[in-house]
Amino acid sequence: MVCSGKRALVVLAHQEKTSFNHAMKEAAVEVLKKNGWEVTISDLYTMKFNPLVSRDDITGNAQDPENFKYGVESMNAWKKGRLSKDIIAEQKKLEAADLVIFQFPMFWFGLPAMLKGWFDRVLTQGFAYNMSSMFDNGPFKDKKAVLSFTTGAMQSMYTPIGINGDMNILLWPVQRGILNFCGFQVLEPQISYSIAHTPPEKRSQILEAWQARLEKIGEEKPIRFAANEDFDLSFAGGFVLKKEVLEKNANNKYGLTVGQHEGKPFPPDNQVKAGSTRL
Ligand code: FAD
Repeated sequence: MVCSGKRALVVLAHQEKTSFNHAMKEAAVEVLKKNGWEVTISDLYTMKFNPLVSRDDITGNAQDPENFKYGVESMNAWKKGRLSKDIIAEQKKLEAADLVIFQFPMFWFGLPAMLKGWFDRVLTQGFAYNMSSMFDNGPFKDKKAVLSFTTGAMQSMYTPIGINGDMNILLWPVQRGILNFCGFQVLEPQISYSIAHTPPEKRSQILEAWQARLEKIGEEKPIRFAANEDFDLSFAGGFVLKKEVLEKNANNKYGLTVGQHEGKPFPPDNQVKAGSTRL
């Protein structure tokens, strides 16, 4: 029997079944099921998921066809159950999940277009966020999410002195701008660096380590972001950190987060290690 709190959704964005990303997905599904999780998969390429936002995402008449605004029209369509079938199906999977794993190869310092398009189309305003329900008050605040991805480049290249730059900076747009924005508790990313240049035996160890992590993923603490209450959440106040929060952090040599760095050095490992931020 599946206990509540043990429903996982794995969203895979890789086109090849022989890829390491596919192997990571298989490893995750195997160990989660073994541990009593109910697992649903969105294998985006196999599903031929359409990643492009368009008018076709709503059924029936648009509210303002002459001056079509995607955000407004899709929110209204969501309220009236008039989003296209493929979006509704993904939203149902997401709604049912306690844990969502996103498995993908890093493309251009970010997400493959297929996965970006899934976020663009599935995280409809109203369903995934609205002005009064975002960040730690977002609709998915009881759900956990983890990015599991592979890179072409080596780990040293993604350090604060590496040629690609600090991985923490690259993770901020997705972890804060998408996942945490919609309320998700974001777990530490699972990063498989330079996977094509990793020897086969080390690749097997990476798969085993991923499975070992997933055995206990329910116990993990999320990455810490600044809380909504740390900000003046008003248009007049500009949605910036409150004076007292800035004063409290004034003697800290690091900024609060990668995003709210206050002009100071980023807190080390802010986006890759849980609990690294002093808030
Ligand atoms: P694969 O090449 O499929 O797999 C690696 C190896 O693992 C292969 O030898 C495979 O046979 C083997 N393998 C498969 N299954 C198993 C298994 N079960 N056990 C053991 N071994 C197995 N990289 C960056 O770092 N930064 C970027 O910005 C970036 N941008 C890119 C943009 C584009 C458009 C593209 C195409 C690539 C980019 N890359 C970038 C590189 C990309 O991130 C890597 O190619 C990708 O992460 C490799 O993952 P994969 O699953 O495709 O690996």
